[in-house]
Amino acid sequence: MPAPDFVNVQSGEAAGKGIRGFAPKRAQECHKSTYASLLGDICERRLVYWRTRGHEAEPMGDGLSALFETANLLTPVFVDRIFNAYGRLQIPAWQVLEQERRPSDPLFVKLNIGLKVDGVRHVADASGRMRPYSVVEFKTMGGMMWSRIKTLDDLGLTHWTARYRDQVLLGMLGCELVDHSAWLVLINRDCLYECTILEIPFDADRCETLLSRVQRVGVHVSSGTLPRQIDRPDICQNCPFLAICAPKLTAHPDEAPVIVRRADDPGRFDELQQMLSDHLLLEAERKEAESIKARLREQLVPGQRLVVGQYVVNWAVHGKGWRMTVEDTSMEAAREPAAAGEGGPP
Ligand code: SF4
Repeated sequence: MPAPDFVNVQSGEAAGKGIRGFAPKRAQECHKSTYASLLGDICERRLVYWRTRGHEAEPMGDGLSALFETANLLTPVFVDRIFNAYGRLQIPAWQVLEQERRPSDPLFVKLNIGLKVDGVRHVADASGRMRPYSVVEFKTMGGMMWSRIKTLDDLGLTHWTARYRDQVLLGMLGCELVDHSAWLVLINRDCLYECTILEIPFDADRCETLLSRVQRVGVHVSSGTLPRQIDRPDICQNCPFLAICAPKLTAHPDEAPVIVRRADDPGRFDELQQMLSDHLLLEAERKEAESIKARLREQLVPGQRLVVGQYVVNWAVHGKGWRMTVEDTSMEAAREPAAAGEGGPP
């Protein structure tokens, strides 16, 4: 039989590159409603941009699109094969139903809040019938980040995880399931059998704050105005609206500075002056120390103790590397007579 005549067959390298960018991209468009998942955003102006200029947002990069798609693929596997399978074996049994449930509270339609909760946990009552019990929201994340979030306070580690609690609270309000704490399930993307479940009790005050926020956003959308910029380099640099918002991320050299005068407040003046002077001094010393340390590391072998005259170099394991410490033994020697003197006769 003659060998098949293959032509232009894709190489593994080309296929790998293609797959890297293969994840479906979300269309950039204006949001028709204010999404509950975004309402806890640190920047209110961005919430208005999503409603009015969403089509101008910087498109999501391949890496981020792939991560979102990975979450879309993994979450149903986790819910069906692991989470619900485990819950059905418990007493009383429970499982997540009503996946992607929309709000039943008419306020959400009135305020135009876009909300879909990941699911509602149904728990068996005394007769064994499954009843709606509480809201559940699932989030996947890489193992490193997952291992750092163990309490509700830890959600504040990044500005994107900080929004989760608000999203869950709005889910509880929207689905009118406020009597039992919701579950925020953080799934370790590296191992689907590792999840952290944070219980979130209902917080009516926080919900009030979020509802006021959505009202303000609505007013801006209808009147064509914008809330103030937050001018936070750490947030703005990664904002999809950076180009159109153009926040002022550095102090403008032409802008008149605030002048602190001694005559107005001598205490504050002296304190600020001293701190600024100390800061400059220590900064210069820190930079010099870092540069000497880098040069030392080039010459020394990590883990190998060394004695140079009065100096002893020691090493200790620190994480996956070595931490170097340098001891001045002449100081030790100077202390010894004094210490001996302390214990001797008066
Ligand atoms: S660039 Fe900064 S201020 Fe402007 S919308 Fe984005 S986060 Fe807000």
